[in-house]
Amino acid sequence: MRKYVIMGVQGSGKGTQAAMLANDFDLVQVSVGDMLRWQVQNHTKIGAQVRRIVAAGELVSDDLVGSLVRTRLDQHDWNYGFIVDGFPRNRPQAEFFLESYDIDGVIHLELPDDEVRRRVLNRRLCTRCGMDYNLIAHRPQVEGRCDVCGGELMTREDDAEHALESRLRDYHTKTNPVLDLFRRKEFVVSIDARPDKVMVQRQIRTELGLPITRGPEKNGS
Ligand SMILES: [Zn+2]
Repeated sequence: MRKYVIMGVQGSGKGTQAAMLANDFDLVQVSVGDMLRWQVQNHTKIGAQVRRIVAAGELVSDDLVGSLVRTRLDQHDWNYGFIVDGFPRNRPQAEFFLESYDIDGVIHLELPDDEVRRRVLNRRLCTRCGMDYNLIAHRPQVEGRCDVCGGELMTREDDAEHALESRLRDYHTKTNPVLDLFRRKEFVVSIDARPDKVMVQRQIRTELGLPITRGPEKNGS
């Protein structure tokens, strides 16, 4: 059983890294972002609440996020463990979390703010089919046009520069106290998130003492 928390700013690739770990080691991936999107898409009561909060330009409260994660983990369907992304968001939640679960490691993806700006502000979405282009790593063949459907590429509205600045500030303000607490009580592995995703994953596994290739639960080796 392996229980991890992954932390990293927007654009650090934490969703991708969490998915790669979850896939190879049969972990349940608990992503706050995905859970909130699911609630909205499925028109639940919580989804309606989230929609109102976002429409008002506010952030979803720590309490709401905390109760979603607790409800999810209470299902106890994580036979081989879990990896949590987007939680805990403050010190009380982190303390509660450490008391409730025997966490094996906290993965901290480090990406300098300048690199976050470069990555996030270089993202384009197809207005027609929704294909996501990163103008650094995945350039369209024709500038401003979608390779798949020929639609026009647009900057994501929420990727606008000032929104990113306020999210970066919010991230550091909230994350630093949580990281400090984890550093004192648990083992935090800090990973440079600048290399490509395969290199980053390899580094995570090395630091956590996990096999580089596959989870032993899957291939029996
Ligand atoms: Zn398209």
